[in-house]
Amino acid sequence: MSDEIDPEVIADLKLRAYSQFDSTRSRGEGVYDWKPPAAVTQWKCKTPPCKSFVDVDAETVERWEIFNKRLRANGDSKGDARPIASHDVMLCDSCRAEHAKIQPQRLRKRTDRMADVIRQLKAGESVIRFETNEGRHSANRTETFAKLIEWGHPDVTGLQQSLAEKDSPNKKPTKGYV
Ligand SMILES: [Zn+2]
Repeated sequence: MSDEIDPEVIADLKLRAYSQFDSTRSRGEGVYDWKPPAAVTQWKCKTPPCKSFVDVDAETVERWEIFNKRLRANGDSKGDARPIASHDVMLCDSCRAEHAKIQPQRLRKRTDRMADVIRQLKAGESVIRFETNEGRHSANRTETFAKLIEWGHPDVTGLQQSLAEKDSPNKKPTKGYV
């Protein structure tokens, strides 16, 4: 439970996390002056059954408000403009640890799914089938490329080029692609 952790330990962890992202703070005197931002409110942990509340600083509240404002104006990638509730933002320390534990497994699953989708694209399928946590899906090739971008494929443009070369009737030797 986060309440049992010494506040100084939390301050130290936050300082380290902060320093990782801001190299200017990682050396020199400024680093010792830095204090974790004061909590202005508490939000419920976003894991549904978890009853913990998490300290939230002013900057987080501000970022959340800006994000929701953009969401209301533009919607997300699926056109959904519903704002994110405050209880869907923060993870408490123990849920965060739990989350970190299953993350490698999630990434592996995602990599396997991408490999399977790319295999179908290379085989020339017009309907690509894949499975996510939400269930089984089928998508046309264009939708599938969008999915690959969403899943974090590093070079969808390169993949499309390699597939286009393969499909072209007067195809050039495709060096470097298997
Ligand atoms: Zn939690």
